Amino acid sequence: MTFDYDLFVIGGGSGGVRAARIAAGTHGAKVALAEEYRMGGTCVIRGCVPKKLMVFASEYPGTVADARAYGWDAQIGGFDWGQFRGQLETELQRLEAAYRGGLKSAGVTVFDQRAVVTDPHTLRLADGQSVTAKHILVATGGAPFVPDVPGAELAMTSNEVFGMEALPGRVLVVGGGYIASEFACILNGLGCEVAQYYRGAQILRGFDDEARGHVANAMMENGIAIHCGTDVIRLEKAAGGIKVVSTDGGEREFDAVLYATGRKPNSKGLGLEDLGVALGRNGEIIVDEWSQTAIPSIYAVGDVTDRINLTPVAIREGHAFADTVFGGTPRKMDHSLVASAVFTQPEIGTVGLSEEAARDREEIEVYAAAFRPMQSLFAGRPDRVLMKLIVSAKSRKVLGCHIVAPGAGEMIQLAAIAIGMGATKEQFDQTVAVHPTMAEELVTMRTPVRRG
Ligand code: NDP
Repeated sequence: MTFDYDLFVIGGGSGGVRAARIAAGTHGAKVALAEEYRMGGTCVIRGCVPKKLMVFASEYPGTVADARAYGWDAQIGGFDWGQFRGQLETELQRLEAAYRGGLKSAGVTVFDQRAVVTDPHTLRLADGQSVTAKHILVATGGAPFVPDVPGAELAMTSNEVFGMEALPGRVLVVGGGYIASEFACILNGLGCEVAQYYRGAQILRGFDDEARGHVANAMMENGIAIHCGTDVIRLEKAAGGIKVVSTDGGEREFDAVLYATGRKPNSKGLGLEDLGVALGRNGEIIVDEWSQTAIPSIYAVGDVTDRINLTPVAIREGHAFADTVFGGTPRKMDHSLVASAVFTQPEIGTVGLSEEAARDREEIEVYAAAFRPMQSLFAGRPDRVLMKLIVSAKSRKVLGCHIVAPGAGEMIQLAAIAIGMGATKEQFDQTVAVHPTMAEELVTMRTPVRRG
């Protein structure tokens, strides 16, 4: 049987674009890709990239305040959100064009429209044409989930936050995960008055408890009003903004409400269920370790599979799929030991097991140091950083590393190499410190603070 394409990819985000480029450009497959919105996906258009640029923008007031403490006659003026937003859009257009260019030079045919699957080898495009492919890759990502509270339509999500007409004076962030905590810090840094409501006992569930507490304290010291054990009952339009009625009995008014209460895989309406592709409870496409669904010709990678929802993971999954199916070199994505960073202020960098998860598995030693780093100490700021290693008492391997510090994302990338190679605590200690740095603590902590 002949097909129009060897591979048809649905979704032009991190995972889909990588798979298409490797399959076509490296392995010579005939590939098409359909994207109904903008090329680049969540990461480029309304996720990691614009978020990180907003993090940079939000850090300047702190930098200027420090500069004054170091003797500079520096003053910060007002922030021009309109100017920033315009420049952000220009940058996103540049990146979008680069993604398109990469696909073009790899020889991938791009359809700027929605595609749905009608049988294991056939797709229908929004303009009505039908195409066939030997393999189909679903890489449609995810979308913000907003719980069904009365007045939820008054709130925005991370999809809308980058396009706000103006910065809100008072903003409520709902949720305690990555997105909520990062945006609470960004908006606070940009000068908004920020409250964060989280239904649980401490934000950033799943991260190392000590690291969570450390970040939450720092965020509160920076002026963010974190209300744990608090959820929204309803939102109402009010003369001065949005009235929020909450479970703690509070009624407060905000100019804007940002919901960051998780994301759901974009798996519905693609024709998959009709074909027998299994979906999980959250709507995620169920795949095996090769990213293959129950229908052998259909694969899925990235957030739509809800494994680890991070861009570099989607890229790896897409690349491994292309090498396996078109390159003759079977490769699986290794989902263990994926390092990540939360771009709160201060950042968290983390890899491996939290103290709590490690203790559930085996006997451990915990090495931790919390201290005031020299740069901010000199500026008179109270900030503290946390460096923490979780070590197996038996094998001496470092099972987890958790850093709360400016630049923690950069540091954890390098620690992840050593930990991925199975480094022991003694091998960390053999490494001579780089002085004076914050990260030198990782190789100079001599005595465990806890055992057990
Ligand atoms: P998360 O899963 O990280 O957090 C969702 C938050 O919303 C949790 O605090 C959760 O509470 C809360 N929540 C969920 N449902 C409800 C509800 N019905 N009512 C009230 N609160 C609710 O999701 P995010 O949206 O923040 O991020 C999605 C994913 O995107 C992340 O998991 C991450 O993989 C990725 N991401 C990564 C970033 C990075 O690498 N820096 C940055 C941004 C996103 P509870 O804890 O009680 O369940």
